[in-house]
Amino acid sequence: MELKNKYMEEVYNSVCLRNPGETEFHQAVNEVLESLIPVIEKRPDIIEEGIIDRMVEPERLIMFRVPWVDDKGKIRVNRGFRVQFNSALGPYKGGLRLHPTVNSSVIKFLGFEQIFKNSLTGLPMGGGKGGSDFDPKGKSDNEVMRFCQSFMTELSKHIGADTDVPAGDIGVGSREIGYLFGQYKRIRNEFTGVLTGKALCSGGSLIRTEATGYGLLYFTEEMFNKINQDSIKGKTVIISGSGNVAIYAAEKAQEMGGRVVAMSDSSGYIYDPSGIKVDIIKQIKEKERKRIKEYTTYVKEAEYHEDCSGIWNIKCQVALPCATQNELDLKSAEILVKNGVLAVAEGANMPVTPEAIELFQKSGVLFGPAKAANAGGVATSGLEMSQNSMRYFWTSEEVDKKLKEIMVGIFDSAYNASKEYNCPGDLVVGANIAGFLRVAEAMKWQGIAY
Ligand code: GLU
Repeated sequence: MELKNKYMEEVYNSVCLRNPGETEFHQAVNEVLESLIPVIEKRPDIIEEGIIDRMVEPERLIMFRVPWVDDKGKIRVNRGFRVQFNSALGPYKGGLRLHPTVNSSVIKFLGFEQIFKNSLTGLPMGGGKGGSDFDPKGKSDNEVMRFCQSFMTELSKHIGADTDVPAGDIGVGSREIGYLFGQYKRIRNEFTGVLTGKALCSGGSLIRTEATGYGLLYFTEEMFNKINQDSIKGKTVIISGSGNVAIYAAEKAQEMGGRVVAMSDSSGYIYDPSGIKVDIIKQIKEKERKRIKEYTTYVKEAEYHEDCSGIWNIKCQVALPCATQNELDLKSAEILVKNGVLAVAEGANMPVTPEAIELFQKSGVLFGPAKAANAGGVATSGLEMSQNSMRYFWTSEEVDKKLKEIMVGIFDSAYNASKEYNCPGDLVVGANIAGFLRVAEAMKWQGIAY
């Protein structure tokens, strides 16, 4: 989208030229630059200090070969990435994604978003992201282990508890974090909090598994309460995806009195008008590692439909896209608006296209952008780092309470920034501005270090 400011347009064009063909990265940068126009109009120092020119260029991008041997003895090669985007606020922090769609554009868009998301949490974390085009789907546990060990053999040269702390993302859960952690410890002979999302037996935090989904619901409830004087209670909810974010979003939505009627995976979606049984989804996805289609063998009245984007045709008041980037486009948004959707909040990273966001906002739908709405996961990773540093742990109640406070704090910062910059309720602009200002201040204070 065209930027209505000459300086921002120049920065954006240089990003496109320097990163040719990286459309997801361009999209993420474009949205942030657009939101920051009112900031640079008030603050010439931001331009003078080259804050934005520096911020759009990663501090470091590591790309490496990951060779591994499959169960048949065949040698396979994947590509590994880690982008260390910005360390102004703390050690680089962000997940690792294992999915065939991973490339440098996807890693850079995720790493760029992570800078602002981490800043919004108020915790001392810089922004980073990594991953590989390896597909864990259909691989044996041993194949996944050998891949993770090979990946960590290279990654271990670049990370550390005070340098860069990876975690999970799509395709990386407790099993993968365990293999990665074991290999790091073996290579470095160090038992440290170099990864988050660890199992409880190895320094993990209670509530980390649930945190992104729970946080998404705490945020959505804040939007309802403080902007519309309403709540999730009694609303029909649709959640795309059935991974870690979607499962715990569904659990919390039901706990808050919402009725979750549909969930999906990359092959299709299930519709259960009497309310999705989250325990069955957990059984299928977390234990059996099977497709969501299996749900209909447990719940006979439920329907299964191929084509996962069809999920947005179901009438609902709350839509929570928790699958992947650009999964909810203008066409789906038009249907949701026609069906009377009241709130949309992003559980995945950048799941709603810019045109769809514009339509929601124009139609008066509450919209919670990913950087704010899904920050609960990384926030709880930050709490895991604190517990590791103390060599101590907090109870579930303590972690959940802190998570809730952080999500309310994120909502307030984004909402207040939206009011201060004359677009009250536009949380896209508010989250980008609030996240940016903290990073900008640290970069200014640290001089031209990066
Ligand atoms: N991958 C998650 C995110 O997108 C969590 C990252 C972390 O815990 O470091 O924020």
